[in-house]
Amino acid sequence: MRILFLGTAGGRRVTFRQIRASGGFLVESGPWRVHVDPGPGALVRLIQCGINPGSIEAILLTHRHLDHSGDVNTLVEARTMGGWTRGGSLFAPRDALEGRDPVIFRYHRKNLDRVETITPGWETSWNGLVFRAVWPHVHHGVETYGLAIEAEGVRVGYVADGRQEEGLGDLYRGMDLLIVNTTFRRPRDMDHLSVEEAVPIIARAQPRWAVITHFSMEMVGDVVMEAAAYLREETGVETLSARDFMEISLHRHGEEVLMEESVVDLVHPLGLEGGM
Ligand SMILES: [Zn+2]
Ligand SMILES: [Zn+2]
Repeated sequence: MRILFLGTAGGRRVTFRQIRASGGFLVESGPWRVHVDPGPGALVRLIQCGINPGSIEAILLTHRHLDHSGDVNTLVEARTMGGWTRGGSLFAPRDALEGRDPVIFRYHRKNLDRVETITPGWETSWNGLVFRAVWPHVHHGVETYGLAIEAEGVRVGYVADGRQEEGLGDLYRGMDLLIVNTTFRRPRDMDHLSVEEAVPIIARAQPRWAVITHFSMEMVGDVVMEAAAYLREETGVETLSARDFMEISLHRHGEEVLMEESVVDLVHPLGLEGGM
């Protein structure tokens, strides 16, 4: 399984100035590509990496906020070409699909093979992968789910946006890799996790590796490296800070899972230097 970070942005300023990219992440297993939380610019980030956006066969949304869903309709259109190439699957919480203001346009859903609502306890098989809603997070009154994705005998957990809750880490036990959205360095009374609040989550979950991402302005610069070192120290779990276009490959060999980390070479020259 391969995970490619097409963005690591969290807060509004980081997202809307593209100080970090905000394209979510891609999970690849064999020929299958799954795009998780395709935020603003996801299409462009795929092109930069030399990936055909039409080759993405599934989209998973943790919640409807724009930094996670900004390019969802673009990717549905890229896959289906307005119905010319029907297919693809989409999985999202109910309030992203229904209600007065769904973020996924209704008109092109009929061109997809499969549209499924993520609910508490949701689990589904899809082309040899398994997707599961781990827990409905508390996040600004928006339906938000932490996810688990399993393929090739490897388990990846995604602690999506949300407030720290007692026992959250226990729900994410058994993961080989745990991706945690740490928007802030220190706790704030908001429905977002900080690095400090990630300590009990990672310590209880005890994944083989953890990756922090979804960074606000408070997490720009050297602080992200310091934060990863702090988490390693506090939890005993090998923790990395995600970088834009970072790729993590995970392979199971018997009892062991091997991990390789690199940064992909951009095919398209448009780079991200940060700041404006
Ligand atoms: Zn959010
Ligand atoms: Zn967010």
